[in-house]
Amino acid sequence: MQMTRLQELMKECGVVGAGGAGFPSYAKLSDKADTVILNCAECEPLFRLHRQLMSEYAEEILTMLDTVRSAVGAKRAVVAIKSVYTEAIEKIDEHISSFEKVEVAHLPEVYPAGDEIILIYEATGRVVKPGQLPISEGVIVYNVETMLNTYFAMTENTPVCYKFVTVAGEVKEPGTYRVPIGVPLKALVELAGGENSQDCEYLSGGAMMGALAKKNDIVTKTTNAVLVLPKNHSVIMKKKTSTKINIYRAMSACCQCRMCTDMCTRNLLGHPIEPHAFMRAAAKGMTSDLTAMLNAAYCSQCRVCEMYACQQGLSPASLIGVFRNKLRENGVVPEKEPKFTDVNEYRKYRTIPMERLISRLGVSEYDVEAPIKEIPKDFAKKCKTLKIMLRQHIGQPAKPIVKKGDEVEKYQKLASCEGLGAEIHTPCKGVVKDIKESYIVVEVKE
Ligand code: SF4
Ligand code: SF4
Repeated sequence: MQMTRLQELMKECGVVGAGGAGFPSYAKLSDKADTVILNCAECEPLFRLHRQLMSEYAEEILTMLDTVRSAVGAKRAVVAIKSVYTEAIEKIDEHISSFEKVEVAHLPEVYPAGDEIILIYEATGRVVKPGQLPISEGVIVYNVETMLNTYFAMTENTPVCYKFVTVAGEVKEPGTYRVPIGVPLKALVELAGGENSQDCEYLSGGAMMGALAKKNDIVTKTTNAVLVLPKNHSVIMKKKTSTKINIYRAMSACCQCRMCTDMCTRNLLGHPIEPHAFMRAAAKGMTSDLTAMLNAAYCSQCRVCEMYACQQGLSPASLIGVFRNKLRENGVVPEKEPKFTDVNEYRKYRTIPMERLISRLGVSEYDVEAPIKEIPKDFAKKCKTLKIMLRQHIGQPAKPIVKKGDEVEKYQKLASCEGLGAEIHTPCKGVVKDIKESYIVVEVKE
């Protein structure tokens, strides 16, 4: 397949990165790539999705990966997968001989192996420079579900309308469910047997990088997991702490031990982010160390400094995240070519074993099987309406191309993007009930 045809297909079917921020997949394709990496490192505690999809759809995903490799003219494709995902590796091994230019890189069971920049280093030894995209090192990375979605787009012309989501934590039947986009998180939790107690909170995403979510929040193309935890769980309490309290705590308790910087996953790669220096500058309101503040732009928000490294229970990642967003809002652009150093020679001794992380987070009791499960055929109809968000991706929000009262067929396009962005379709036949600035409501008919 030609690269332009693949770009059209990805764009027309609304394919975006199904794991992270939802970068439009067509915009990643580039003939400057010599390597395409499949990210199967899935490192958020309790996540199961990628290894499960690899076990179920190895042939389809490898076919698509090799098609992408060939379309961009890359020399090789690499399946980057943790060596502990043995069942998925067995399935890959059954098919890999059919793909001459696809190889497997075995990764250690550490956090955050799935971070794109860490993954590239682990799989190829290349370091993407601070603030640069993977393509600057000749690499494109796609996640497992993104490749599966592209496969369905290529073979069936099916747009992205469904999402696999793992539901874990305080639910009766943890599992992974393929649901239509636009359903509320609480409907997903009900699929998993409901909450074990009334006093629970939801996280959209994992214990490390996930965000507090409301029960009526909506499944989008990037929802990977819903984690249900007791209201007083330390992870929930930590994420609920206000910026004001975080600053007060930093002022009173940061002892400048440097542990956050010594374990910072980007600092270990040589990037110029130093959370201890940021904490010192932020806590003292200093303007003398602007570099420490501005280098917040190079943080990946992996939260190792906050959820694992700091023995005082402080929150460098949260404060850095707030500051970084303010920099962006105010149009402060990070330095294009900041100074960076070699990879830290002790890096391999400072990675975080998943078992230790799961224990430290206090989620060991939820570390159970969460197999892919069928959903009832009338699930969408029971939800009655789907609230389909117009921005499920990086770039411009999509603009509605339907109007209130329109009858729409399954997979019909509802909204479109002219610039960088993604097309939005409906998973179900129905009637457009409402159109607002940020979403379209479809009443489900079938
Ligand atoms: S690890 Fe905690 S106490 Fe130590 S420098 Fe970092 S924020 Fe301060
Ligand atoms: S969240 Fe913390 S550990 Fe992760 S990159 Fe940012 S500063 Fe470093």
